[in-house]
Amino acid sequence: MKLKYICENCDRTEIFDNPQVAFDLGWDYPPKMYEFKMISPRTCPNCSIESTIWWALILEKKTLDELSDRQKVCLKRILNEPESIIVKEN
Ligand SMILES: [Zn+2]
Repeated sequence: MKLKYICENCDRTEIFDNPQVAFDLGWDYPPKMYEFKMISPRTCPNCSIESTIWWALILEKKTLDELSDRQKVCLKRILNEPESIIVKEN
């Protein structure tokens, strides 16, 4: 299954069909790290956990309304995983 990994912070996007490879490159992303649909960090190798929705909601105690529009889009993508990140092949 090919998945599109999208960094929450910088929008860097890469496609992997092997979660272990993505993890080894430094991606914090399900299904290797955490689970689909779970609010947890989704970051590329360059970005830190402090920029994530998880950080904002859990550590900064923000409400869903206080998230930025960008974060709301990302949250929707998270809640619709894995369908929202599957790369469809023709
Ligand atoms: Zn990033």
